[in-house]
Amino acid sequence: MSMDDALAAVLAQAARVDQADSVNTFDADGRVLWADAVSELQVPPMDNSAMDGYAVRCVDITGAGVPLPVSQRIAAGQVGAPLAAGTAARIFTGAPVPEGADAIVMQEDTEAVDGGVRINAIPKSEQWIRRAGEDIARGSTILRAGTRLNPAALGLLASIGLAEVQVARRPRVALFSTGDELVMPGAIAPADMPPGSIYNSNRFFLRALLTRLGCEVHDCGIVPDNREATIRVMQEAAADNDLILSTAGVSVGEEDHVKPAVEQLGELDLWKISMKPGKPFAFGSVRRAAGGSAHFMGLPGNPVSSFVTFLMLVRPFLLRLQGVQNVAPRALHVKAAFDLPKADARREFLRVRLNEEGALELFGNQSSGVLTSAVWGDGLVDNPAMTTVKQGDVVRFIPMSELLQ
Ligand code: AMP
Ligand code: MG
Repeated sequence: MSMDDALAAVLAQAARVDQADSVNTFDADGRVLWADAVSELQVPPMDNSAMDGYAVRCVDITGAGVPLPVSQRIAAGQVGAPLAAGTAARIFTGAPVPEGADAIVMQEDTEAVDGGVRINAIPKSEQWIRRAGEDIARGSTILRAGTRLNPAALGLLASIGLAEVQVARRPRVALFSTGDELVMPGAIAPADMPPGSIYNSNRFFLRALLTRLGCEVHDCGIVPDNREATIRVMQEAAADNDLILSTAGVSVGEEDHVKPAVEQLGELDLWKISMKPGKPFAFGSVRRAAGGSAHFMGLPGNPVSSFVTFLMLVRPFLLRLQGVQNVAPRALHVKAAFDLPKADARREFLRVRLNEEGALELFGNQSSGVLTSAVWGDGLVDNPAMTTVKQGDVVRFIPMSELLQ
């Protein structure tokens, strides 16, 4: 199965969560807007000065060096009187422009004189005036439902007076790892690790990735490689989670119990996705005793496979659950500073790093077990199946910053 088909199948099941949370705007970073944000006022609310200086009428400045009496002083937060003809108003940044003034002369272009000010530069009409509504018009939609909020968006919401915003509730995700070889860091010291055992690394990056995506994570820990234990965890997790996410055990070995467990409790498709790293990926659902079902996704066990399949399939799914429409990460066209002489039958996601010349270097070991590559890399090259790469070729580069937010 192609990765695009797998993604389409996964997204087809991603109905938006059924509820919104009302959260303080301060706490809405990373959350997804539930409804359009419409402004009840214009921003800025009035014409105001972009500079410390003097508000004038251009017709009064007949030449550089004209002196004008200063008829009033308007600080930010105050409202002045209409500007008397033939005078200037002392004004400060953010203060409302008095009626009748049509330009601001910045302080640096003036000189104080007895009882007034000398205007040393002829102003252009409108200069240094920020017009009312130039950022936001009254009644306009500033952010659409389905927008993922970032710090700038929080500021924009605040600028129209919103102290609270409606966002999609957090998707609830149950996470567990399978594999009798897994040991939690801290449980056994490195020097005492029994032969055949490894530390559970997947659980750490998956929990962090889920949290960054706005999910509420229910960590079910490590589930032993047996059918009963796997079934028990699935049943419990289905009750109050939107998604059950597991790692490993989705191949078809005798020690792989995830597939039979999900098949007994719901439905499961096991896909061999034409992607590298990746390949085995399970998608299905687990019925709830109370009716309905939870989604299920089973990731491969190899850390890099698990990491990349999460980013390519689970991440878009979780964003869509929150109502985000455009879930595809943005790719850039960048020059390769490496050769990939052997074409692979699968679409490949190569761990790469941008060098100072703006070209991409390849991490030496692209094995799916080498997590160092994912830390070293600052992005992935999305290389189509059966495609070699020569230095200087332009490739599709997905920055890690796109994927980790
Ligand atoms: P599996 O999918 O069960 O065949 O596992 C594939 C490989 O990934 C094996 O070498 C496992 O030991 C390894 N692996 C599975 N789960 C984890 C995990 N949570 N952390 C690190 N490595 C893992
Ligand atoms: Mg295993």
